[in-house]
Amino acid sequence: MRKISIFGATGSIGQNTLDLLRRDRAAYHVVALTGGQNIAQLAADAREFGAEIAVTAHEAQLPALREALAGSGVEAAAGAAALVEAASRPADWIMSAIVGAAGLAPGLKALEQGTTLALANKESLVCAGRLLMATAEAQGARILPVDSEHSAVFQALVGERLAEVERIIITASGGAFRDWPLADLANATLAQASSHPNWDMGQRITIDSASMFNKALEVIETREFFGVSPEQIEVLVHPQSLVHALVGFRDGALMSHLGAPDMRHAIGYALHWPDRKHLPVARLDLAAIGQLEFRAPEEARYPALRLAREVMARGGLAGAVFNGAKERALDHFIAGHLGFTAMAEVTEAALARIEAEPGLIDDAMTLENVTRIDDLARKAVDLLVAQRTG
Ligand code: NAD
Ligand code: MG
Repeated sequence: MRKISIFGATGSIGQNTLDLLRRDRAAYHVVALTGGQNIAQLAADAREFGAEIAVTAHEAQLPALREALAGSGVEAAAGAAALVEAASRPADWIMSAIVGAAGLAPGLKALEQGTTLALANKESLVCAGRLLMATAEAQGARILPVDSEHSAVFQALVGERLAEVERIIITASGGAFRDWPLADLANATLAQASSHPNWDMGQRITIDSASMFNKALEVIETREFFGVSPEQIEVLVHPQSLVHALVGFRDGALMSHLGAPDMRHAIGYALHWPDRKHLPVARLDLAAIGQLEFRAPEEARYPALRLAREVMARGGLAGAVFNGAKERALDHFIAGHLGFTAMAEVTEAALARIEAEPGLIDDAMTLENVTRIDDLARKAVDLLVAQRTG
């Protein structure tokens, strides 16, 4: 039996992962499941799978979790340290599907144990890519991409040499507002930004898709994961979300991955890698689809893409600043303190402020320094938002 843990089990990726495990229950032993406020879901899944331990990120929820697990034999724990402890428990495969920089510490701990990490939590690669990749290498641990674009690139590279890759093209649906008049974007509401044309995902990544902050993170994720230079990475708007990525080789050939917009494709590939097993995803009927549509991303519509290029050019800990500022700007958008287009404005301003502080961005990439600069970025955004609204 394979020992499996799922970080962020109650979320969209976590639930899709459990759906795949459920179809072959006897093959898996669940070690740890983690969640946040949704204690009922976490406890129900932990009971169903006979998990060793269930962890909620929120210490105040520990009594509720204990009560929900009473008599089940499942251990209950809470808080950031408990998440890291759960990640240190022996497992064969860990799904990293917490949303945001909070996924970094448990993911890093899993790699330090030499555990294979299926990585949906792109934010950790953006914040600390070199640290994660170096830890994996030192421990002989594998990171398997779960983001659909990166899984697609990974699959297109099977049997190929990275040295022969000329470019990597990741596709973007263009999000909820791809066809809106630019002038209307500033007034886009939370409800409008929270609905994705093709994918059913958590709320935060859905809003990040509308602003293309998600694609900005994914460009940096591509650089960190595959080690290509920023100039080799392209973004292509593909409204249908059927072609997930393309890899261009030096002979001009393009290899692409097509599939229904269903995250169980990428989760299943990482779960069964290097094998392919049957997956319960829709099969594409290309004759019925008829045409595939592509266009270049408009710079003015998606300033986040430009910021990603600047962050990669700056290097150091700029990725952690970018991600922390973007996460906090999103918190303020969700809370109604900030307009849709203002998220990119305050993220850019926070980046400029922290980059102007001598030394900070060039500190060594350790978990402590990344955590500290992430916190500084969030505080810079709070200050900028207070100034705008004040
Ligand atoms: P979600 O919001 O549906 O779920 C997030 C999970 O993280 C939940 O279990 C939640 O309880 C937990 N969580 C939230 N804040 C936490 C914190 N501070 N500490 C610990 N746990 C916390 O998110 P999702 O859509 O499943 O996305 C998860 C990750 O996968 C993100 O990094 C996202 O970018 C990435 N991803 C998601 C999709 C998708 O289709 N949903 C696709 C590609 C990549
Ligand atoms: Mg993606």
